[in-house]
Amino acid sequence: MIAPVSYRTHPSPLESGLRLDGRRMTPQRKKVLSLFEEIGSGIHLSAEEVHAKLTSSGERVSLATIYRTLRLLVKMTFLNELDLSEGGNRFELLSHDHPDHHHLICIRCGRTEEFENNEVIEAGKSAAKKFGFKLLELSLNVRALCPTCINK
Ligand SMILES: [Zn+2]
Ligand SMILES: [Zn+2]
Repeated sequence: MIAPVSYRTHPSPLESGLRLDGRRMTPQRKKVLSLFEEIGSGIHLSAEEVHAKLTSSGERVSLATIYRTLRLLVKMTFLNELDLSEGGNRFELLSHDHPDHHHLICIRCGRTEEFENNEVIEAGKSAAKKFGFKLLELSLNVRALCPTCINK
C-alpha cells in the first residue's frame, strides 16, 4: 500500500520556534515579521507598503533593506511571496491557523483576493501521485484584472 502524500504548506509552531531561536533572526527581521503578525494572515503587502508602515512608526530603514529582509523571511518560510507580473510582489504571513488557500491576483494594481478550493488541492495531489512526485506545496495563483482595472 502506498502511504498518503504528506502535504503541508505551513510550518508547525514548533518548527517556527526552532527557527526563531536561530542567529538569523535579527531585530530588523523580527520587526518586519511582527508587522505581519500584527496585521494577521490573509493580508498581502508589497515591500513598499511594509516600508511605509515601518517608517511611519519611527523605524529608519531603507526600502532595499526591506526587500532583502522580506526575501530572507520567505526563504525561512515565515512568509509567502506572490509574484505579480505588473504589480510587483506581495508578501503574506504563513501561519498554521490560516488554511491552505489560493489567490486571485489583479496584475495591474495588485488587489489580491483569497479563496479555498479542495478540488484544486485534490487535482494537485493526484497529478503528483501519477508522476511519482513528492508534493511539497500547493497553491493556485490566478492572474487576472480586477473590476477597476478592466475599465482603465
Ligand atoms: Zn493569501
Ligand atoms: Zn486591479
